[in-house]
Amino acid sequence: MNKFKKIVAALLLVTLVFAISGCAGTKKAKVLTNGTYTGEAEGKGGVIKVELAVTEGKISKIDVKEHHETAGIGDLAMKEVSKAIIENQSVNVDTISGATIACEGLLKAAKGALKQAGAKDEDFNNQKKVSLIQPEKETEQSYDVVIIGAGGAGLAAAVEAKQSGAKVVVLEKMPLVGGNTLVSGGGLNVPNSPQQKAKNIQDSVQSFYEDTLKGGDSKANPSLVKILAENALDASKWLVDYVKVEFMPDRLQQFGGHSVPRALIAKGNHGTELIEKLTIKAKELGVDFKMNTTAKELMVDEKGKIVGVKATNPLKQELTFKANKGVVMASGGFGSNVEMRKKYNPEFDEKYLTTDQPGTTGDGIIMAEKVGANLTQMDYIQTYPTCNPETGIISYVANSRFDGAILVNKEGKRFVEEMERRDVISKGILNQTDSVAYLLWGQEVEAVGNMTKVHTDEYNKMEKSNVLYKVNSIEEAAKVFKIDVDTMKATVERYNKFVAEGKDKDFNRRGQILSIEKGPFYIQKVKPSIHHTMGGIVIDENARVINKDGKPIEGLFAAGEVTGGIHGTNRLGGNAVTDVIVFGKIAGKNVVK
Ligand code: ADP
Repeated sequence: MNKFKKIVAALLLVTLVFAISGCAGTKKAKVLTNGTYTGEAEGKGGVIKVELAVTEGKISKIDVKEHHETAGIGDLAMKEVSKAIIENQSVNVDTISGATIACEGLLKAAKGALKQAGAKDEDFNNQKKVSLIQPEKETEQSYDVVIIGAGGAGLAAAVEAKQSGAKVVVLEKMPLVGGNTLVSGGGLNVPNSPQQKAKNIQDSVQSFYEDTLKGGDSKANPSLVKILAENALDASKWLVDYVKVEFMPDRLQQFGGHSVPRALIAKGNHGTELIEKLTIKAKELGVDFKMNTTAKELMVDEKGKIVGVKATNPLKQELTFKANKGVVMASGGFGSNVEMRKKYNPEFDEKYLTTDQPGTTGDGIIMAEKVGANLTQMDYIQTYPTCNPETGIISYVANSRFDGAILVNKEGKRFVEEMERRDVISKGILNQTDSVAYLLWGQEVEAVGNMTKVHTDEYNKMEKSNVLYKVNSIEEAAKVFKIDVDTMKATVERYNKFVAEGKDKDFNRRGQILSIEKGPFYIQKVKPSIHHTMGGIVIDENARVINKDGKPIEGLFAAGEVTGGIHGTNRLGGNAVTDVIVFGKIAGKNVVK
């Protein structure tokens, strides 16, 4: 419908009087005209366009038609705020920390749409002030299972525990669910997947097990790695068939350290798909969520059993959540806690930015240790090699590396096998001039995964901030970053010769190698950031938390990045999501037993 028709249609609809304020009767009644309106405003990453529907004089629907906010966090924040607008019939809603500008943009766009429906500026001032943080009515609450953390592991555990018949609550300290899983690329390693079969890729549980163990220098607990490898396929089927997660049907990624492409990639190449679908399933089953609720302490009875969790919220309420069956610790790692990083490995100090969410501060590790849990491999901290050097955020456009892009240094030379493990590449980059590297690819590589298109928002932001350039020649690519032109041209020529011969004689690059001949070319500046903490709470094969005497602590289970021993010195790409789903499910099932 064009704009004119829309206006006519809107005027023909019954004009209703409604109380735009939540306190009907106390404020002057306002008029909103039924219809569908669009509004737009600037967010952090660009324009936010909303479509707002008014039915029977009330805001009945808000659709965010376009936005360029941080994938995952921006999406979720805008959904929460839209929901609050509709529930409260007010655009005087609190913003969400971590996505403040996105929320402000959405509210402004909604106001613009409402003005077309007849609202005036002063109406907005009269509206009910809506806080997204509500006080708990009961400061003491009783559940069968209390789960700490609403990332991938916590959500998988919640769904599984609820499915087993338990009364379940998830405590999440941030205003949004998702943790690091939300900002991940949504890759999940699965041997023998239908996607592998369709591409005739031979794989096995044994090969996945061996790659994972080897990738972590054989320092992982082999029995936990075995559980991971053996349960990956079932976990992926559960996600697809039961949780309704969609994976890209044609995409399989071979992350560094894996012998074959085996990572399924969630729709959108982002953790959002996993987190949204797990949350929908958990809510559908009746799991309770307590957002902005920080777990502070595990409650122990006289026999040493974990019987609940003490928590607080921003309203400074002291809350007690009794856990009649047990607690699942799923609070993630400690990548955002610089002091804790330095305590366990002084190398990873302030000089490193992080890819992590602000909630990954190691709280669960500290709480578990206080009740006697054993910790392991706390000094194994992983950096991700190809992050944005300005923000620290992981770059998904740089996944072009897995499709065939090469890494060069300021001198224009390759210095590492691009399919090497994350730690090896990270150390390699840090040893180069300015501690940065440059990722280079052309249309041959771009055609494989279309990374600049799949991640358009990230691409545009990097182009704007001169972290990435699209250029027409190798010479130009070198010049934009003041890389030695002749050496880089020679490097690319030599690499293309290797491609023609079918073997990378310099670094013996694994997987398919592709030439860099067809422009336009892309060159992106990259730097390592702290990404994953491999160490944490010791668990057994049943996800029970083990104490310093090697015995399980009754009533306490843990899963995901908060645990240690599954990845050894170095976690392979795509193994975090497999870990959180496999062990989250195990923890959720066993805590109910
Ligand atoms: P995993 O990948 O292991 O599931 P994530 O990082 O995805 O880990 O999720 C962990 C979640 O736990 C995050 O959302 C984080 O905000 C939350 N969290 C961390 N500490 C606490 C705490 N003390 N209380 C409640 N939630 C917490």
